[in-house]
Amino acid sequence: MRGQSEFVFPGDEIGIIEELLSGEGTYEEDGVVRAAVVGTTFVDMIYRKGNVITNRRPGFTALKKAKFVYFQVEQVKEDSAVGTIIGIEDRPVSSHLSAYIHISQIVNRRVERITDYLKPGDVVKAKPLGFTLPVPLTIKQPDLGVVLAKCSICGGDMVQIDEEHLRCTVCKNVETRKLPEARRRGS
Ligand SMILES: [Zn+2]
Repeated sequence: MRGQSEFVFPGDEIGIIEELLSGEGTYEEDGVVRAAVVGTTFVDMIYRKGNVITNRRPGFTALKKAKFVYFQVEQVKEDSAVGTIIGIEDRPVSSHLSAYIHISQIVNRRVERITDYLKPGDVVKAKPLGFTLPVPLTIKQPDLGVVLAKCSICGGDMVQIDEEHLRCTVCKNVETRKLPEARRRGS
């Protein structure tokens, strides 16, 4: 079991349910109480509850006012793309803010495979849906989507050829992505 005031990240073990119950800012999984947020531990010895008190993070205040963020996909799982927020509007972010896009927040239709829309390494213009860590994001709106992608075969730069296709400038490989709607000429 963790002591008091220990700094923890989401997923870190606080204790096992034989020792304590899952309290604020935690969740229980297979008999283990884990941190659900970034913060410091507070173990309530009277009620035997493990809590995690959220720390104010420097990026969070800016995030709440942001119209959009830039998110880099690190890993694509079955039901979500996970990664890091690298920019809030046009300012780079120095603190680590983990984020994810759920499969239901990509397009307004059923998604079979996330990799048809997003791939690891992509930089995505997205909108925050909430302010917990990891930050839930959406790219459903027409102006949101992948803004920078590398070829998954050779790593070359990709250029847009139509609403949903990109072509590698090196090996000519064509891939699909959820792309932001092209801006109208003259606007
Ligand atoms: Zn290529």
